[in-house]
Amino acid sequence: MECIKCGKKSVSEYLRLCRGCFLEVIEKRVRKEFRMKELVKRNDFLLILDDGTYNAKNLIYLFRKIIGKMPVSLKTKKGKYIPGKKINFDGKIMVPWNLDDEAVLFLRCFFEKKKIENIGNYENIIKPLVVITDDESRQFARIMKFDFKDKKKDKVNDFLNSMEKRYPGTKFGIKKSISHIM
Ligand SMILES: [Zn+2]
Repeated sequence: MECIKCGKKSVSEYLRLCRGCFLEVIEKRVRKEFRMKELVKRNDFLLILDDGTYNAKNLIYLFRKIIGKMPVSLKTKKGKYIPGKKINFDGKIMVPWNLDDEAVLFLRCFFEKKKIENIGNYENIIKPLVVITDDESRQFARIMKFDFKDKKKDKVNDFLNSMEKRYPGTKFGIKKSISHIM
């Protein structure tokens, strides 16, 4: 298949884009999220939580590229993001969390009849990658040749993926519904 933007060989069956155009589209989406939500301001104290996965590697790379020369203080810390668990840091914490993670968290609250919380950006937690799917995030890191760990998946991920296959757009649809009720 050919890239819908430039006609070169496509690398993604979902988006039909070549390597270069794929990287560009993903970066643009994340850039827009930073801008629209005003995630970062000058002189912010920021921490990126690095769990070693493709999400974390992409987040570190994209953040540096997107903010450019804006003066901020940035630290990284090794660790896994567990929704609701306190992370000791006096500033904003960027977590390696993509669209699938957010949709799964929402569905899990729903299935287990738990209170819907820790969704979206809350307190000092920000999630710049919720605009890209798990497949897109993994593919981005592969094209960039980042050294990364894979993420564990469970039944809810399988459910979400089978829904997406049957009804393309489900993941973004869930995110949209979340932003309406939160
Ligand atoms: Zn292209």
